[in-house]
Amino acid sequence: MEIKIENVSMTYPSGKQALKELNLDLGSPSLIGLLGPNGAGKSTLMKLLSAALMPASGSIYVDGHPLSKMERTLKAQLGYLPQDFGLFDELTVTQFLDYMAALKGLRRPKNAIREVIRQVNLEEKAKARIRTLSGGQRQRVGIAQAMLGNPSFLIFDEPTVGLDPEERIHFRNLFSHAAQERLVLLSTHIIEDVQSVCDQIVVIHQGSILFSGTPAQMIQAAEGHVGVFWEQEAAWEEGLHITARVNTSQGIRCRAVAKELPSFVQPEEPSLEDAYLYLISGEVAQ
Ligand code: ADP
Repeated sequence: MEIKIENVSMTYPSGKQALKELNLDLGSPSLIGLLGPNGAGKSTLMKLLSAALMPASGSIYVDGHPLSKMERTLKAQLGYLPQDFGLFDELTVTQFLDYMAALKGLRRPKNAIREVIRQVNLEEKAKARIRTLSGGQRQRVGIAQAMLGNPSFLIFDEPTVGLDPEERIHFRNLFSHAAQERLVLLSTHIIEDVQSVCDQIVVIHQGSILFSGTPAQMIQAAEGHVGVFWEQEAAWEEGLHITARVNTSQGIRCRAVAKELPSFVQPEEPSLEDAYLYLISGEVAQ
């Protein structure tokens, strides 16, 4: 599946412009991490890609055809976990998935339901009512319904919210596995979620794309802009965005990103998190 986003802008009826002239190409197989602070426009982009919203201007093409003409075809191939996913509290996990399978038009869904329950590690809760589940378990039910029917395009809007670190690792691996033969788009503001599994990262901020490329390219872009210094030796901190501050027995060790590093800052290899903070801080400073 190939998706082409051309000059897409989105303004809500309130007048809020959530996306500005976006251009982006996505193609399977791929696991794409959509990173950005809260309010950046990630959910809006995902809603546009799932045809839950229509762009105010610009076009989205799916396999070369306008999305407006491909809506049903796209929805038949799509698994979507929205951010505010309402669950049917009084149903059991299996009953809910059976309901979702019916909406997706799956015939004889028993095996498919069993398989997604297994994938999200919820076998023990298959017969439990959704209202009795923990936040993380509910999130897993949301992920399971998105994966029902083996869709070729998966959109997960902040799927790891509410999951503990061990569960997050499990799901990262699951997404990575799913992306071997699919297009998987994962929105998050947790860098570790994309660091280990995404082959492409798109950073979005205030409705615009700041970066699109591989994690290695993102790190490369921050080289020479990340360093450490002792706070007591710092002549000034203007223009420095301090990203870590550790109290040690020798004093306070700071890590910072900056467009130009002052001489008292000793350059260091950027991490993906540094690179992200560098991109975002540059925008904030403007
Ligand atoms: P993110 O998913 O990155 O947190 P969103 O796409 O949810 O960002 O939001 C982008 C911007 O659009 C924010 O300023 C948000 O307040 C605004 N917004 C989102 N949904 C609506 C809506 N239904 N009506 C008006 N403004 C909205």
